[in-house]
Amino acid sequence: MQLSLKGMKFHAFHGVYPEEKILGGEYIVDIAIEADLDEAGSSDDLSQTINYEAVYQICKGVMQRPMELIESVLHDLATELMHSFSNIEQLRIKIAKLHPPLGGRVGAAVVEEEFSFVKECGRCGKDMICYSNDSCWCHSFYIPAATRTKIHEQYGTTCLCPTCLADYAKVEEDV
Ligand SMILES: [Zn+2]
Ligand SMILES: [Zn+2]
Repeated sequence: MQLSLKGMKFHAFHGVYPEEKILGGEYIVDIAIEADLDEAGSSDDLSQTINYEAVYQICKGVMQRPMELIESVLHDLATELMHSFSNIEQLRIKIAKLHPPLGGRVGAAVVEEEFSFVKECGRCGKDMICYSNDSCWCHSFYIPAATRTKIHEQYGTTCLCPTCLADYAKVEEDV
């Protein structure tokens, strides 16, 4: 499923110049999310449904926090989306700062980035989603540090698919 919100307009106070911090400026944000709805990275209770309103509210919240660089705004937005939804396969974010104060007539300063979170499970080879940071669903599995180290030694990563990780979590419970 792909969900996108285009042309979200915000008045925000990002920037390094005083006029940007006091008067603010106009911004346009575009977001596209490719998500796997059948196979969330985790059990159903962890994966919130991705919907337009939730995505818009996250976007609005991040835009309201003044930052110096729109690159940082983009990074924060990506992180918040990862924290909120566990089944994002691909994410594209574009932020345009309209008429940036650069001493001339400039239409917009734009940052754009695309993230891809699909990987192959090192143990079973199945496609899986991992964000490779602490907002990933895989951190919600209780796996003791020693076992994580073992998994890392064997597969070069501690991130396996939910089924494989659940095996390790179970093994530890039985001990
Ligand atoms: Zn696996
Ligand atoms: Zn992960």
